[in-house]
Amino acid sequence: MSKAIRIHAIGGPEVLLWETVPKPEPGPGELLIRHEAIGLNYIDVYFRTGLYKLPGFPAIIGQEGAGIVEAVGADAAGADAAGFAVGDRVAYAGSLGAYATHRVLPADRAIKLPPDIDSRVAAAITLQGLTAQYLIHRTHQVKAGERILVHAAAGGVGQLLCQWASHIGAVVIGVVSTEQKAETARANGAAHVVIGTKSLAADVRRITGGEMVPVVYDSIGRDTFLASLDCLAPLGLMVSYGNASGAVSPFELSLLSAKGSLFITRPSLATYAAKRPVLEKMAAEVFQAVRDGILKPHINHIYPLSEAAAAHTALEGRQTTGQVVLIP
Ligand code: NDP
Repeated sequence: MSKAIRIHAIGGPEVLLWETVPKPEPGPGELLIRHEAIGLNYIDVYFRTGLYKLPGFPAIIGQEGAGIVEAVGADAAGADAAGFAVGDRVAYAGSLGAYATHRVLPADRAIKLPPDIDSRVAAAITLQGLTAQYLIHRTHQVKAGERILVHAAAGGVGQLLCQWASHIGAVVIGVVSTEQKAETARANGAAHVVIGTKSLAADVRRITGGEMVPVVYDSIGRDTFLASLDCLAPLGLMVSYGNASGAVSPFELSLLSAKGSLFITRPSLATYAAKRPVLEKMAAEVFQAVRDGILKPHINHIYPLSEAAAAHTALEGRQTTGQVVLIP
C-alpha cells in the first residue's frame, strides 16, 4: 500500500484527506516513482476548488514531483520505457496525481535529474522554472533594457521571472501586496516595485515616464486584467497566464484596439512543453540556469505531504513567497 492526499469532492483545503491507497503498478510505457519531494503550485488550488475540472473522484491532485524510479513498465515492444531504469532520479511537471508517496507517470513526461540537482530543488522549480523559461524566451523574448511588468513578483513563478529577466538586463517592475513582499521582489531582481493595484496604470506611467511597458505578465486574472491592459504601450502584449483571483471575465475584442492595438495570449506550459525534445531542452536550460546562479530557488515553506491542507491555506491566503514543497 502507499499513502496519498485524495479529494472526494471539490471545496476548501479541508477536502484534502490523507489516505491509504493501493500502490499503483506501471503499465506499458510508464514508470512507478517513489516521491522524495512534491511541488506545490497554484494550479493545485484551481483543481481543488473546481476552477479546473478533474476527470472524476476520488482524485489525487498535484502536478509536480521528484523522486526515484521504483519500477519500469515494459513498453509495447517489450523494452524498458524510454530508456529509464530502476534507481534513476527523475522529476516531472504537468501530470495530475503528485500528492502521493508513489505514483505512476508516463515515461515520456519524466526528466532525468542531473546529480547536482537536489530532489527538493527539482520539485520546487521544475514546473515554475519551465514556465518562466517559456514566458521569458518564447511567449515574448525579453530583451536587455526592456521594461516588463510582473505580477505576484514575490511568488513562486514571479520570483523566477524577476531573476531571469533581470539577468537578461530587463528592467523589471514587480507588483506585490505588501512592503515585506516588495523587499523580496527587489532582492530577486525587480528594479521597481508597486505595492497594491489600486493605481497600477498611474504607477507604471510614473515609473516609465509615460511610455508604459511592452509586456505584462499577469498571473492574477480577474482582479487585474483591465488594469494590466492599461499598463501596456501601444502594440503591447498581455500575457494572461494565471487566475489566482479567479478567471478573467469575457470582454469585448474591440477593447484591444481602443487601448492601443494590443496583443493578448493565454499560454499554458502543457502546450509549450508538449513535444518530448522541447521538454528536455527546456528542462536542461532551467537546470543550467540554477547551476549558473541565474535562477535561485527559495524553498521558503516545507510541509509534510500529510499537511497539504495547511500548505493550501497558506498559498491561497497569500502567505507564501518563493517555492513551497511537500515531503512525503
Ligand atoms: P504564487 O506563489 O505566485 O502565489 C499566488 C500569488 O498571487 C499570491 O502570493 C499573491 O501575491 C497573488 N495574488 C493576487 N491576488 C490573489 C488572490 N486573490 N488570491 C490569492 N493570491 C493572489 O503561485 P505560483 O507561483 O504557484 O503561481 C503563480 C501563477 O502562475 C498562478 O496564477 C498560476 O496559475 C500561474 N501559472 C501558470 C502557468 C501556465 O503555464 N499558464 C504555469 C505555472 C503557473 P501578492 O500577495 O503579492 O499579490
